[in-house]
Amino acid sequence: SYNGIEVPVDGKAITYTNGAYSVPDNPIVPFIEGDGAGRDIWKNARKVLDAAVEKSYGGTKKVAWYEILAGEKAYGLTQNWLPDDTVQACIDFRVSIKGPLTTPIGGGIRSLNVTLRQTMDLYQCIRPVKHYPGVPSPVINADDVDVVIFRENTEDIYAGIEFKAGSPEEAKLREFVNTQLLANTKKQLRSDGGIGIKPITEMASKRLVRAAIQYAVDHGRKVMSIVHKGNIQKFTEGAFREWGYEVAVTEFRDKIVTERESWILGALDKDPNTPPEAIAKLVEPGLKFAPPSFEQKIIAEVKDVIAAIGATHGNGAWKKLILVNDRICDAMFQDLLLKPQEYDVLATTNLNGDYLSDAAAAQVGGLGIAPGSNIGDGYAVFEATHGTAPRLADQDVVNPGSVILSGAMLLQLIGWKEAADLVEKAMEKTISQKYVTVDFAKSMQGATQVGTTAFSDRVIENM
Ligand code: NAD
Repeated sequence: SYNGIEVPVDGKAITYTNGAYSVPDNPIVPFIEGDGAGRDIWKNARKVLDAAVEKSYGGTKKVAWYEILAGEKAYGLTQNWLPDDTVQACIDFRVSIKGPLTTPIGGGIRSLNVTLRQTMDLYQCIRPVKHYPGVPSPVINADDVDVVIFRENTEDIYAGIEFKAGSPEEAKLREFVNTQLLANTKKQLRSDGGIGIKPITEMASKRLVRAAIQYAVDHGRKVMSIVHKGNIQKFTEGAFREWGYEVAVTEFRDKIVTERESWILGALDKDPNTPPEAIAKLVEPGLKFAPPSFEQKIIAEVKDVIAAIGATHGNGAWKKLILVNDRICDAMFQDLLLKPQEYDVLATTNLNGDYLSDAAAAQVGGLGIAPGSNIGDGYAVFEATHGTAPRLADQDVVNPGSVILSGAMLLQLIGWKEAADLVEKAMEKTISQKYVTVDFAKSMQGATQVGTTAFSDRVIENM
């Protein structure tokens, strides 16, 4: 038992060996109901997920849900916001799902999200963002948005290495930087500031981009974009971009074409006799102002690309490969608004991903239905992306969509694809019938406003 709650006797644990999950027909999946509106949402989401599994497999498969405690409910029963048993159950059963939790005011409480992320090394924060027809959106082309954002989840400024203005640590660090590292430059740190450290490692960058490309391969996605701020932060964000491309061309050579390579192969498609010198000008428009040595380098690159993939992927065959490109983060925000149809899978660093995933969710109608997941190697925690909506709690009014769709992602991960698809399609149908909760009904013409339970029941009817 965990927290004194017996493990379901009718279930078996999911296991993970050699990079693959083994899922029994009755997997034990721990769930944290969540605080506030989480209470309204979970019981309904569970009903929807169970119905989809039942309809897909006629009783041969069934999730053995297992309640574990966190948040207010845990505090009430154990005087502990996050019992060790809860973390241990997430580890032992590998795949779990959680509703939103109150962040207790006053501090000193370890955050469940941070604790789980660190103990299981959940390095990918994956957020699929797509528009369900009929969902009120602030933009006119919301239907064109269908992206999956892979946000690096373990480093960047979230490493929490910061020093307060006026502290002895800050003074020591500033002194070291100014005298040891910047002595021969015109740069100096000013004395009245805080300092934060932004670590970006090769290991963490590569494994995140690797996961994003693998996702594109597995799900038939066409484009994988590395999103970064490398024009300014060369050795962190810029390095993320470099390492990302390195993974793409070394580990996925037969599956991907980079944007630069596509220009080279495209030029050859038009005229196989285009000289490398002409192609070099195409891939590097600023070439005429560069020194000859640089021009030689680009020409060599063009020749290398042609030698490496020209024979197998020339003549338009490259168009069938996954396109790997990169975008500066600020441009990405614009592109997602102006030409979302050009994007598919995005891989980005932690802070960029934080902003981008919330902005993208808002673009398609908000956090009420945006699902989320935190994934590591052999571990996964699915979660609502919204908070506890305390003012709407216990009134059966909130939108259960975010947890329902997070559950669909969970079913997808354990290989129960039919059930996952059924959940998604039934959600889509229910929304298109304008049968929606208050958050959507407010701005939807001719909507029938219903409660959490009625909405969920309709989703089940629509399966
Ligand atoms: P919130 O997401 O709870 O609410 C923001 C707004 O969205 C509110 O107007 C709310 O009514 C509405 N809303 C949220 N979910 C909804 C749903 N499913 N259906 C309809 N409307 C919905 O954010 P907040 O008010 O900033 O935070 C409230 C509490 O939740 C805080 O204690 C915060 O720490 C916590 N929180 C937890 C998580 C998490 O556990 N992952 C995430 C964010 C906030």
